[in-house]
Formats: sequence, structure tokens, C-alpha cells
Amino acid sequence: MSCSSSSGSSEEDEGFDSYRKGGYHAVRIADTFASGRYIAQRKLGWGQFSTVWLAYDTQSERYVALKIQKSAPEFAQSALHEIEVLSAITNGDPTNSKCVVRLIDHFKHVGPNGQHWCMVLEFLGDNILRLIRYNRYKGLEINKVREICKCVLTGLDYLHRELRLLHTDLKPENILLLSTINSSKDPIKSGTAPILEKPEGVSNGSATMSAIEKRLKQRARRAVATISTKRGGFVSAPKPPRCLDGIDMNCKIVDFGNACWESKKIAEEIQTRQYRAPEVILQSGYSFASDMWSFACTAFELATGEMMFAPKGTQGFSEDEDHLALMMELLGKMPRKIAIGGRRSKDYFDRHGDLKRIRRLKYCALDRLLVDKFKLSNTDARELAEFLSPILDFAPEKRPTAQQCLQHPWLNIKNPDS
Ligand code: ATP
Ligand code: MG
Repeated sequence: MSCSSSSGSSEEDEGFDSYRKGGYHAVRIADTFASGRYIAQRKLGWGQFSTVWLAYDTQSERYVALKIQKSAPEFAQSALHEIEVLSAITNGDPTNSKCVVRLIDHFKHVGPNGQHWCMVLEFLGDNILRLIRYNRYKGLEINKVREICKCVLTGLDYLHRELRLLHTDLKPENILLLSTINSSKDPIKSGTAPILEKPEGVSNGSATMSAIEKRLKQRARRAVATISTKRGGFVSAPKPPRCLDGIDMNCKIVDFGNACWESKKIAEEIQTRQYRAPEVILQSGYSFASDMWSFACTAFELATGEMMFAPKGTQGFSEDEDHLALMMELLGKMPRKIAIGGRRSKDYFDRHGDLKRIRRLKYCALDRLLVDKFKLSNTDARELAEFLSPILDFAPEKRPTAQQCLQHPWLNIKNPDS
């Protein structure tokens, strides 16, 4: 139960195949939980382990996020672990200033697919991946990148230094804005009244049914798009850039399903592929510095709209090898000692510390890439590269801590253009 894949990363649905015994719990709008305390409003998102719903808390008269775990024993166990971690996080942050999601309540819910652990979390807005997508995969303005980085580093510093906790799955999907991108979707800002009873006429409209309908519609839309491109070679005009002014960039770290205490590591392989640190691939031991690597990959993605490393693993070599090659093309050759120092090093490197199967690397320094490919100004590129490069040191012990990063001048530069 260690590494999550790209769950929820597409805007596809969770798929109704997993709505079975041991799987997700099907929710209908206005379903109640915890003896009527929480009322389901609409689905907010989903992951490999759970679906997450906007719910109305009738006791506090506030909106909350209800994370409903799949029911099979391994998911239940992982929920209990997440509850333990979230409790520590919430108890250690009484002033709510650490940029980490808060746990409000938890309970067990029995449904046709089994017993589901449920976590009641404070309701947050859209995840950062949605923000990148909303911005049409263009890099965010550098000042906005800075604001998000400050929050994420504040959260990491708290987790690492005060709790001795590793997140192990930091990525844009697991960073949530405090409010929604589209304020009409924010139940608080838009002032919509909570749904307290089943909407009339749809008492049978289950979440599963609407998932099927939605998928069919999606397919139809895709088919139409394919036909129109094939027919006329019709190319739509580029869409104008979107304005992000007015969107609050304050955010929090979420998803502690894979988090672990520094003193009690469980999984060998951690992190989602693209955000995985070299020491995790080579199995030379991971720690807080591995979260820092994922942080740097995330910051790069915010500034460019593209993943820093997107290994494919084709042409006779594995995804791991491709990944290591991509890292070296951007960051320079890996020092021999590090390259050959992991339990899996022999699979990829020869005794000189050269990749066995991928020979010709095309080096391109980070600041150059930011200018040439992503069109950052020379100054923005140089400053961002200066901030990120130390965090992308191949030697984990040389990477700055979150606390040290928070002191970096880059976080306090005021860019007059933006
Ligand atoms: P994973 O497969 O990544 O392990 P998961 O099943 O553990 O996922 P989360 O990552 O915690 O689930 O949540 C899935 C999605 O639900 C998030 O990406 C986000 O869109 C939404 N979500 C989660 N928590 C909240 C919250 N507190 N407020 C609003 N939306 C949330
Ligand atoms: Mg997640």
C-alpha cells in the first residue's frame, strides 16, 4: 500500500468497477453519516483508496470534506494509520498556522460494500493540479509560485522538524488551495443553502449511475473531437491565457495515507513516479530530504506547467533507467559514489557510475531550460534555478531542509512585473 499512482490525476471518474465488496461506498446526495450528523452534498474528488465528498455538518453548521475509505481490510488498516497521523498533526497545531489539513472527526460507516472508515476533514478548495490545468498548463506567474512554495515549506517544516513525519507522496494533487478556483463552486462564498433532504425525483439516482452517464458523455465528446480533427484537419485557435488574479494562493498539504514516522518506515518504494527521489529508485535509504526532492519537482511544475521528470521507459530500457537519465540530463552526472551506493544500483549503473544501457545524454542546465523552453525571463530563471538546484542535489544529506529553504531570499523577492 505504498506508492500511489496517478490516481485522480485525470479528470476521469474513479470507475464503477471499484464499487463492489471491499471497494468504495456508493454515495447519493443527501445521504447521512454518523447518525445524521453529516449530510452528503456532492463529490469533491477521489483517490485509489477513497472518494471524498462535500458534506454539511449539522452540528457545527459548517461544510466539511468527508473522506470515505474503501472497505477491504488493507484499506481499513491504512485509514486507521491515516487517522493516527492526522490526529497528531491536528493536535500539534492548535493555532491552525502550519499549512496542513485538519482532522475534525472520524467514524465507521456500514454500507452494502462493507465497513468503511470515514475521516471528516476541514473543507478545502481545488488541488494545485487543477490550478495548473485551469491555467492551461502554462507556468504560473512567479510570485504565485512563491506564495504556494511558502505554504508547502511551512507545512513540510512542521511535519519534518516538529513531528518527525515524512509525507512520502508530495505532488500537486496533494496540495489544496484553501478556496475553490471558481468561487461559484464554493458553497460558502456562493452562499448556497445546504441540501438537507433527498432531492425530489432522484431518490434512485445513485452515484454509480451518474458515473456511468458521465463516462458515456465523455466518450461521446472524445469521439466527436476525433472525427472533427480527422475530417477537416480543423485546428482550433489557441485559447487566450487565463487570469488568476483574485484566486487565493494559500494552500495546505493533504493526503497522509502514505505518511510515515521517520523512526518507523514501512515501505521500500515510496512516492509517485514523477516526484520520486533518486535514493528511492536506487534504494539507498530515504528520509526527509526525499520529500524535499518532491517539493522541488512540484515547484518546477508550478513555474512551467510541465512535470520536471516524466520518464517513459521505452526502447528496451525501464522507467527507472529513463528517470535516472532524465535527472542527469538536467542536473549533471550523478557522483559515482551515489550512483553505485544503492541496493539497486547494479541494475542500472556499471562500476564506473555510468548508466549501463543509456549512453548518450543530452545535458541542459536548469536555468537554460527555463529560458529556452519555458520562456521565463533570464532573471526569473536564474533566481528559480538558484533556489531549486540545491534541493535537487543527488546527495540527500546535502539538500537544504524545509526550515533552511524558508530562509532563502528567493521566497521574499518582490517581482515588480507581476
Ligand atoms: P491517493 O490515491 O492520492 O492516495 P486518497 O484516496 O488517499 O488518494 P486524497 O488524496 O486524500 O485521497 O483525496 C482525493 C482528492 O479528494 C484530492 O485530490 C482532492 O481533490 C479531494 N480532497 C481531499 N481532501 C479534501 C479536502 N479536505 N477538501 C476538499 N477536497 C479534498
Ligand atoms: Mg491523493
